[in-house]
Amino acid sequence: MAGEPQADCLFCKIVDGKIPATIVRESETTVAFRDINPQAPTHVLVIPKAHYPDAASLAAAEPAIAADVLREAGQIAADEGIADHGYRIVFNTGAGAGQTVWHAHAHVLGGRGLQWPPG
Ligand code: IMP
Repeated sequence: MAGEPQADCLFCKIVDGKIPATIVRESETTVAFRDINPQAPTHVLVIPKAHYPDAASLAAAEPAIAADVLREAGQIAADEGIADHGYRIVFNTGAGAGQTVWHAHAHVLGGRGLQWPPG
């Protein structure tokens, strides 16, 4: 069923506490933790606790939770002190765009200069 935990999903296992993560924030609907392979001084992932494969499918099924993810991302940027200098919220969607984990997640990146267009 849509949104239900998937046994083979890495991020569902982090939500369940079966795989350790450095959690920085948690809400009723989301968890945020540090990326294991950081691409910037601040690199935090914000995920919905419910399993959806990407951001668009999350937003279509649970728009309020998609908004929670974005709100949490903004709060993390403020907490990490990166908001004043600019930061990026990224949803890689599809293998061609670099998505490797098929559980919706926002990358929150900041703390260094960020180039545009991204690679
Ligand atoms: P994607 O490539 O946009 O799907 O992002 C997946 C992210 O998950 C990558 O930046 C990985 O470094 C990160 N990642 C993979 N496994 C773990 C983990 O166990 N803990 C934290 N981050 C992870």
